[in-house]
Amino acid sequence: AKSMGRNRFEFFNHNLQADIINTKRTADEILAGIDNGEFTAWYQPQFCARTMELTGVEALVRWKHPSKGLLTPDKFLRIADEINVVQMLDRIVLETALRDKMRWTARGIAVPKVSVNVSARRLHDGSLLESLADLHIRPGEISFELVESIFLDESEDVVSQNLERIKALGIDIEIDDFGTGHTSIVSLLKLKPKRLKIDRQLVQPIVNASQERALVSSIIEIARSLGVETVAEGVETAAHAALLRDLGCDILQGYAFSRPLSFDDFTNEATGTGWR
Ligand code: C2E
Ligand code: CA
Ligand code: CA
Repeated sequence: AKSMGRNRFEFFNHNLQADIINTKRTADEILAGIDNGEFTAWYQPQFCARTMELTGVEALVRWKHPSKGLLTPDKFLRIADEINVVQMLDRIVLETALRDKMRWTARGIAVPKVSVNVSARRLHDGSLLESLADLHIRPGEISFELVESIFLDESEDVVSQNLERIKALGIDIEIDDFGTGHTSIVSLLKLKPKRLKIDRQLVQPIVNASQERALVSSIIEIARSLGVETVAEGVETAAHAALLRDLGCDILQGYAFSRPLSFDDFTNEATGTGWR
């Protein structure tokens, strides 16, 4: 029994060690990847629910890993957060998106707005605002998607001051993943975001589950009464799209229309299908 216990301990110890080594390796690769320009943005289109015109895109970080190929954020974002470099990735995505938006304009493709995800931490230290000053952002062309938790873990004054400064730079504020975290109607009232994104966990059941449908309908009503636009994420079928339009949702995003695409693929799609 004693030797078994020992084996088990060594087994556990071995796994833990392998984990730490893996994490360390990934962390080193992330840092090298940032230096080598391996991180980029992919784009998922968003459409007006009524007219089906292209209203904008969400920029999503991707890692062109030298040996593993293209990686999605679930493979690296947690570790990037642990080593405090999500801010750098956000900055890369924002710069890439601004550049790509100009390239689309040059090709005659109108992408009115690009939404980027911004990690909460960056909003609290001043670095975000400093790094924005040297980018030339036209009013309304960029919006920041922020998760609701940021409104909780910092003093309200700091958060609202920073948000006001961002708005003053012509950047719109969007509340991401609405309905999953610590949803607060009060934060909606106070922060007056431009848009609210209804999380796909709420959106996906609406076709079959009447409770979720009622909830999504109420969220849309509340947002509308406050003059806040609604975006539904995770719209996977035509039935979802039709129902959301009937419920009064403004903007739709999801696999029903397109998966996230590279710059080139997005450009081809936009030219070919006439997203406009
Ligand atoms: P999110 O902000 O909720 O982004 C939407 C995610 O849902 C994306 O995954 C997108 O590919 C996926 N998605 C889009 N349409 C559908 C659909 O119809 N069905 C389903 N099942 N999924 C859909 P992705 O690109 O893997 O990103 C995952 C998360 O990583 C994002 O969730 C966001 O929280 C984070 N993230 C992505 N890019 C960035 C970034 O540049 N900076 C920061 N800080 N976080 C990012
Ligand atoms: Ca998002
Ligand atoms: Ca989400």
